[in-house]
Amino acid sequence: MLSLWRDLLNLIFPSFLDCPLCGGKKEGKDFCNSCYSIISSYKQELYCSRCGRFAGKGSVIPCVSDHYCYICRKRQWPFELVRAAGPYEGVLKETIHRFKYLGRKNLALSLAGLMVEAARMEPLLTCVDLVLPVPLADEKLHVRGFNQAGLLAEEVGYRLQLPVNHKLLVKDFETRPQVGLDRVAREKNLAGAFRVTNTGAIQGKNIMIIDDVFTTGNTMSSVAMVVRSAGAGNIFGLAAAAGRYF
Ligand SMILES: [Zn+2]
Ligand SMILES: [Zn+2]
Repeated sequence: MLSLWRDLLNLIFPSFLDCPLCGGKKEGKDFCNSCYSIISSYKQELYCSRCGRFAGKGSVIPCVSDHYCYICRKRQWPFELVRAAGPYEGVLKETIHRFKYLGRKNLALSLAGLMVEAARMEPLLTCVDLVLPVPLADEKLHVRGFNQAGLLAEEVGYRLQLPVNHKLLVKDFETRPQVGLDRVAREKNLAGAFRVTNTGAIQGKNIMIIDDVFTTGNTMSSVAMVVRSAGAGNIFGLAAAAGRYF
């Protein structure tokens, strides 16, 4: 199944001639020199040990090996930790937009490659049993034509040699922005939209939830809550990009 997905993608989208991130000349490598240096700079970024969001310029970083952002110091998340390939800005943000809104599905390969690099830097992620993408509600899936998290999950699973299940999690309806509700109420509403179709397939498993972007964390948190209620073991998140905290 996994190799079928790769064969299919390679057939439809032959190897990139230009840099997949910026469209510049890549001269036989995966990315152009400029994108290489930007991607390498992600590895120097400081991030929250829990939610994986990146420290904003000027934020005060405590001198400890594990540090939590101001939100994670106060908030209990239903997941162990989240990691992301890089900050949601610049070339990474533009790439995600082209992937998601302009339908450049082949960018899943490059983005998932960066996500896997980030995952490999986190030892806890070696205990994952099963990869689940954040689902889209049917109406959104019909408009977009594909689930961006599903494509990323498929490629991440392939590269990490982990099973991916696209049917265990569903989103029954699209949630609208809910003005006037506080965070807890909004999150409860959002969590109500997600459902596990077969709890037996999740029980006791260490789950990696895949999404394209982690910003407020509300989506990842809602999905993790549902997966946790279904009896999952440890729950982790992996995103192509994460926001910054200040
Ligand atoms: Zn480039
Ligand atoms: Zn945090």
